[in-house]
Amino acid sequence: MKINVKDLQKHPHQHQDFHIVKKVGDVFVDLEGVTIESIEIELTVENTGRVFPARGIICAVLKMQCSRCLKNYTYPFEADFFATLVDVSHRDEYQDEEDAVFIKEGEADLWPLLEEIIYSQLPINPLCSPECKGLCPQCGIDRNYGSCQCQEQEIDPRWEKLKNLR
Ligand SMILES: [Zn+2]
Ligand SMILES: [Zn+2]
Repeated sequence: MKINVKDLQKHPHQHQDFHIVKKVGDVFVDLEGVTIESIEIELTVENTGRVFPARGIICAVLKMQCSRCLKNYTYPFEADFFATLVDVSHRDEYQDEEDAVFIKEGEADLWPLLEEIIYSQLPINPLCSPECKGLCPQCGIDRNYGSCQCQEQEIDPRWEKLKNLR
């Protein structure tokens, strides 16, 4: 996901807008079970003379696995982001900056930064719906679609122990 800032580099105090769209079928990385189906990036890059501050928005359609029923479901993702584009000749000065993206021969690859932003903002326990009933831990039936008799026999081992204390 590279942007070309060659023109902008020649024009200090100007800015340039970018719009990147990747649709279903474009090759995308799997982020630990999360698939990016499509992604749209809008950003504005400024040339302040030395660095190129950028701010933008990520809109993506992700496929995630529900942590309760294990079904794949569609998750719309949206986030703002900031980046500091800087020519690779200044690498030593900026390499510790979290949002630094280096410009090599007029091009900056935003993907490593965007991937990190997406990954850091994903839900820890993804749910296909807040009401998802999940799978029965005993027979594995999807409780969203059917019921089983297991539930009544379920005894919490902690209560068992308490009973024995009496
Ligand atoms: Zn679910
Ligand atoms: Zn069951």
